Amino acid sequence: MVLADLGRKLNAALSSLNRAPVVDDKVIDALLKEVCAALLESDVNVKLVAQLRQKVKAKVKAQFDSGADRGKEANRKNVVQKAIFDELVQLVDPGVEPYKPKKGHPNVIMAVGLQGNGKTTTCTKLAVHYQKRGFKSCIVCADTFRAGAFDQTRQSATKAKVAYFGSYTETDPVSIAAQGVAKFKKERFEVIIVDTSGRHKQESELFQEMVQISEAVKPDMTVLVLDASIGQAAEAQSQAFKDSADFGAIIVTKMDGHAKGGGAISAVAATKTPIIFLGVGEHLHDLDKFAPQPFISKLLGLGDMQGLMEHMQDMAAANPEKQKEMAKKLEEGKLSLRDWREQIQHVMSMGPISKIASMIPGLPQELLAGSDEEGSMRMKRMIYITDSMSASELDSDGSCFWVNGKDGKPEDISWRVTRVAKGSGTSVREVEEVLCQYRMMANMAKQAGGKNGWMQTMQKMQ
Ligand code: GDP
Repeated sequence: MVLADLGRKLNAALSSLNRAPVVDDKVIDALLKEVCAALLESDVNVKLVAQLRQKVKAKVKAQFDSGADRGKEANRKNVVQKAIFDELVQLVDPGVEPYKPKKGHPNVIMAVGLQGNGKTTTCTKLAVHYQKRGFKSCIVCADTFRAGAFDQTRQSATKAKVAYFGSYTETDPVSIAAQGVAKFKKERFEVIIVDTSGRHKQESELFQEMVQISEAVKPDMTVLVLDASIGQAAEAQSQAFKDSADFGAIIVTKMDGHAKGGGAISAVAATKTPIIFLGVGEHLHDLDKFAPQPFISKLLGLGDMQGLMEHMQDMAAANPEKQKEMAKKLEEGKLSLRDWREQIQHVMSMGPISKIASMIPGLPQELLAGSDEEGSMRMKRMIYITDSMSASELDSDGSCFWVNGKDGKPEDISWRVTRVAKGSGTSVREVEEVLCQYRMMANMAKQAGGKNGWMQTMQKMQ
């Protein structure tokens, strides 16, 4: 099951709980059965799934026994959903923090892994990732085993505008790695990525070479690149690498199309090694930062404010002042319609809609349905709608579009909505939807930016 399908199934199971009139053992068992079946289909290890089921049941029972539900069905639902959310996070959380590259320091990152896992592609993606965040980045191709490896690095690094080093004549990978790293250190590069050779299977020669290169370049972090399609076999593969050359982090590639992604991630987490990124496509920007809680949140269609904020930080290099202003607004929960429109426009300029849009809480799932072209058309309509708003409306928090009732709560739409619908060639309903989506995003930003954590945000959404 592709990850998006797993997310949909888990989401459907959790939503079905909302429809249940009472939350009793039968309902909880049926819900857990659905959740576990979805995880098993995604190749998560049977033992891990059984553990998840037991832990959720124990947690829910303890909470009910302690009276945390205060006898209310809605609270009981929250308790169950939170327990499942927490255990899903646990399932992908190795509980270890990875190395974080430091500014002004020559951070050497060595990539290892079997041939075909996506190592060379990932090295360029990594260099682009750090370059975007203001680190002077480069790649050293120490893969002398595979014919054409240096050409591949040269081409992708040139395309990505990243410095690279390699040789067509030198056959000793240890020597190339040492030369490249020394050269780039001298030139004050801050992220130096060393791409090593892979083999089709784990061979002693490969492991020996890895150890030698590691001794020569003394990496700050060694990253194992794993292919998601191996599913739970990822545990054995990472263990084999770990036994020969210790590594500090893992990148799981090809998460975009593989049925066993959930299995690979949970298997890796079980080895207590942090996953730092997921490869989600063949393009340079198809690299998602991985963190357990935001990952599960996004998987369940609840958005990923943390990821979104990080994406926004990417804008910092281009426009630091604007960025600071936006981060402050997000933190203070003062997001205007104009800011929201800027975010949508930014999302549209950042690559495949389906990938980025899933980070925005409150964006309807329909927006993500269909092709990227369809998704971007829908987003364009949202922009047309905001284009028909006046400057003061755009700078507002949207409340001017509603007429409040006696209790001070919005009761009806204002004439402004009809005007905007006419001006943008859309319908009143579409304008209303855009306003609701903006409101939701603004509220989520407030909660994520403030001291309330994601859990509370999620609970409020249920
Ligand atoms: P290496 O032998 O480990 O260096 O692997 P390569 O970097 O040459 O990648 C092998 C193949 O996997 C290439 O066709 C890549 O385009 C593809 N690939 C790498 N990462 C991803 C990913 O995240 N998603 C998809 N769909 N393909 C990927």
